[in-house]
Amino acid sequence: MSLLSQFHSIQSLRDALQAKKISATELAIDALQAAQAYPDNALFLHIDQDLTLQQAQAADQSLAANTAGPLTGIPIAHKDLFATQGWRTTASSRMLQDYISPFDATVVGQLRQAGTVSLGKLSCDEFAMGSGNENSAFGAVQNPWDPTRVPGGSSGGSAAAVAAGLVLGATGTDTGGSVRQPAAYCGVSGIKPTYGTVSRYGIIAYASSLDQAGPLARNAQDLVPLLDTMSGFDPQDSTSLETCNGAPNTQGRIQASYQAAQSRFQAAGAQPLKGLRIGVPKEFFNQGLAADVGAAIEAALQAFQALGAQRVDISLPLTRLAIPAYYVIAPAEASSNLSRYDGVRYGHRAAQYTDLADMTRRSRSEGFGEEVRRRILVGTYVLSHGYYDAYYLQAQRVRRMIADDFNRALTHDCDVIMGPVTPSVARRIGDNRQDPIADWLSDIYTLGVSLAGLPGMSIPCGFGGDTQQLPIGLQIVGHYFDEGRLLAIADRYQQATDWHQRTPENI
Ligand code: GLN
Repeated sequence: MSLLSQFHSIQSLRDALQAKKISATELAIDALQAAQAYPDNALFLHIDQDLTLQQAQAADQSLAANTAGPLTGIPIAHKDLFATQGWRTTASSRMLQDYISPFDATVVGQLRQAGTVSLGKLSCDEFAMGSGNENSAFGAVQNPWDPTRVPGGSSGGSAAAVAAGLVLGATGTDTGGSVRQPAAYCGVSGIKPTYGTVSRYGIIAYASSLDQAGPLARNAQDLVPLLDTMSGFDPQDSTSLETCNGAPNTQGRIQASYQAAQSRFQAAGAQPLKGLRIGVPKEFFNQGLAADVGAAIEAALQAFQALGAQRVDISLPLTRLAIPAYYVIAPAEASSNLSRYDGVRYGHRAAQYTDLADMTRRSRSEGFGEEVRRRILVGTYVLSHGYYDAYYLQAQRVRRMIADDFNRALTHDCDVIMGPVTPSVARRIGDNRQDPIADWLSDIYTLGVSLAGLPGMSIPCGFGGDTQQLPIGLQIVGHYFDEGRLLAIADRYQQATDWHQRTPENI
């Protein structure tokens, strides 16, 4: 049993570290061993003991000097989409298989400065395109609850590493659901904040108007220091926000609003969520939703009502259109972002070629996997002369209308929106190989939130599947900049339930 597996939250580990019951270095050595001994060797794409131990020693120094913060010494790991100085950064692609970044992504630097200890890089779908972590050039990742199943994607490695107890937190990115969906499939908690609140600098771009980083952890309370540390204005990202509802976008913002919400809940006594209006969109409960997922969501909604919340039926009529709109806009942006990988400026270069055009063609065909090539083709097509108006512009209009629907609901009808994250529990590895569009369709409940740029999270709320051993996630969506309150609401639910405490070994 690893040392880390004795701690079920960042909070409990922090107490042990600060009481000097355990050192960050001792913990890091043990955690590295557990990561290396983990049976699924597709999970970690790069481990470097020396780099990890340097961070652990720095953490021990600040613990000794009593300058430690809430994350000092906490073992985490990064999705391989984040540039990390020293560790390889591949985006799970052959295109970047030997790439070592000369700098850290802003988010990676912020977490390092906060004293976290990174164990290395976690697999994801290639360039974050996918829903099962099978689109990695370096092998499919297994779901710790059932190794024949996918962990979700694209941040599948991040969710699997947290669920397996190898780290207490991990970074992910969410373009159309990639933090929330793997969190749901792996029974962990994850949050995608409002677009623009977390820096994208140093995160390999997929669809820039949608990409947003967010953390995954065992519970909502642990997400607070992680997201707080990751947040803040960054002049190096042109879409980074200087203010959030008039207040400066700085570290401390999430923590402060989380605490303010907690105090209000506290003051409300036995019904802490009294007055909270939960909007339940009827379009999220259509015939595509599996019965086991529907039942778990229903039970979660009842648990919220027992805490005093009120349930309001709402409608998000364009939910269906989120899929075509997203799968036009995201590939369009991807085709542009990925044009830089031409074997000259960035990425793999073919060994043999006849001329410049042939070199680009061969380098890109060899470097990119099938799904990435498919998206580039779709994206180039919808942006091409004659199709731009029919597809791309039309998709942008639909995006605006979807955002308006969410805004209307959150402004007039309810304070938060709740529903499923996914239509079913995690599928089997290989199931959708012949039918990639089936994966696209399963993103139906997460895409609209991304198109609208709203904050959304997933927390464990039950189990389903034939064996009743596959996690189910509840999605909670808030208004812009409401992530602190979302985390406090999720925490209240987790105080009243124990789904988040289940682990694959002791279900
Ligand atoms: N499954 C979606 C896609 O493949 C979302 C991925 C993501 O959020 N990165 O594009």
